[in-house]
Amino acid sequence: MNENPRLPAVDRVLKQLPELIEAHGRQPVTACVRAELAAAREGAKHGLPLPDEATLLAAIRRRAADAARANLRPVFNLTGTVLHTNLGRALLSEEAIALMVEAARSPCALEYDLASGGRGDRDDLVSGLLAELVAGGSPDIAATIVNNNAAAVLLTLNALAQGKEAVVSRGELVEIGGAFRVPDVMRRAQVKLVEIGTTNRTHEKDYFDAIGPKTALLMKVHTSNYVVTGFTKSVDEQAVADIAHAAGLPFVVDLGSGTLTDFAALGLPAEPTPQQALAAGADIVTFSGDKLLGGPQAGLIVGRKDLIAKIKKNPLKRALRVGKTTLAALEATLRLYRDPDRLCQRLPTLRLLTRATSEIAALGERLLPSVQAAVGAGFVVALEDCASQIGSGALPVERLASTSLVLRSTAKKPGKALAAVEAAFRGLPQPVIGYIRDDAFRLDLRCLETKDEARFVAQLAAVKL
Ligand SMILES: *Cc1c(COP(=O)(O)O)cnc(C)c1O
Repeated sequence: MNENPRLPAVDRVLKQLPELIEAHGRQPVTACVRAELAAAREGAKHGLPLPDEATLLAAIRRRAADAARANLRPVFNLTGTVLHTNLGRALLSEEAIALMVEAARSPCALEYDLASGGRGDRDDLVSGLLAELVAGGSPDIAATIVNNNAAAVLLTLNALAQGKEAVVSRGELVEIGGAFRVPDVMRRAQVKLVEIGTTNRTHEKDYFDAIGPKTALLMKVHTSNYVVTGFTKSVDEQAVADIAHAAGLPFVVDLGSGTLTDFAALGLPAEPTPQQALAAGADIVTFSGDKLLGGPQAGLIVGRKDLIAKIKKNPLKRALRVGKTTLAALEATLRLYRDPDRLCQRLPTLRLLTRATSEIAALGERLLPSVQAAVGAGFVVALEDCASQIGSGALPVERLASTSLVLRSTAKKPGKALAAVEAAFRGLPQPVIGYIRDDAFRLDLRCLETKDEARFVAQLAAVKL
């Protein structure tokens, strides 16, 4: 029923949109037509003129395009934080993407042993590779993979210490972005946390004194997102390992980021590796797949074979395990580490972190005129040196020299103009995410790769202020 005789009927409108129906399907387009007609009727009730046919059809096309657009949209991360948790952390290598696509498209030997034709184990896809990369292929080292590092810590604690005690320094009771707090995870794992030392100082004696009949393990947590400076003391991994082993207990290290490569050799701030932790005597290390490792979201648990076997038998493992596309991406990512010479080019995380400052500055010079033209005379666009962050809690105080495009409003009170320009960049077909600081809208160019430059420039024409 058409309540407004001056508006066309749904069927008549649909007849004029064959190409839209072809693109999106009859049902979604019909819904858009109804919605636009309803909006027009509602407008008319409030005295607005009815849209002419061309306006109506254009509105329907826009609505259909909006409805068809995926919610998970690619963006330009110009926030200056390379591993941005809210923007999906690590970008995957082409190698990882290719293997993920294959695993998604075809049946794959996920838990199938192609040699025997019998049942396989999904962790075996990466366990040997990890042993090779972190322990020179030691047959005593195995690995198991779960959804993220928070899950890795939860599972490890529950499997190795349920109903018993785990000893952690007070200086390491970290909170990682909101929901992951070591004391809470302990509780959920049904492990009693035994806190030792003080916020700034923990000694070997504190570990000795805490060990009792109920102790199941000693644990160190990498304080990945803060530093305590001044009058501080912590006990290094080797010493905690020795204390644990003398008492016949396992030593667990939550590394957080855990890169597999030597950051210092790449000219980056040093970051502890699982190799070092295992060499220092850790029996289990856990770390994220999508932080400095540069792979998919995953939690990697690597260490002593017997302990890994125990962890894998825990029913939580089944609840926390990862799927085939994650394992495909992880396997392909780990394989890249076998060829250190090309790692920095192939692994986007390392490529972005080691990008030459001169290259970023040159990109800025090229982009400045287009950005200035896009925002018009209401803003003055300049290039400024800035400092990128690694992000995701990795190396919290270290910064990487970079270049930003800086947009300053010519208005006396710039607040509104800055909010508007930020929203305009966010509203682009591929949203551009920057940040406002010190009365300027800033776009850190470190993560705008040259291969994406043309696409970035092409959409600047759509900036609406
Ligand atoms: C990041 C981090 C975690 C959580 O890892 P997710 O992969 O984000 O679940 C746990 N512990 C430490 C020390 C971390 O840095």
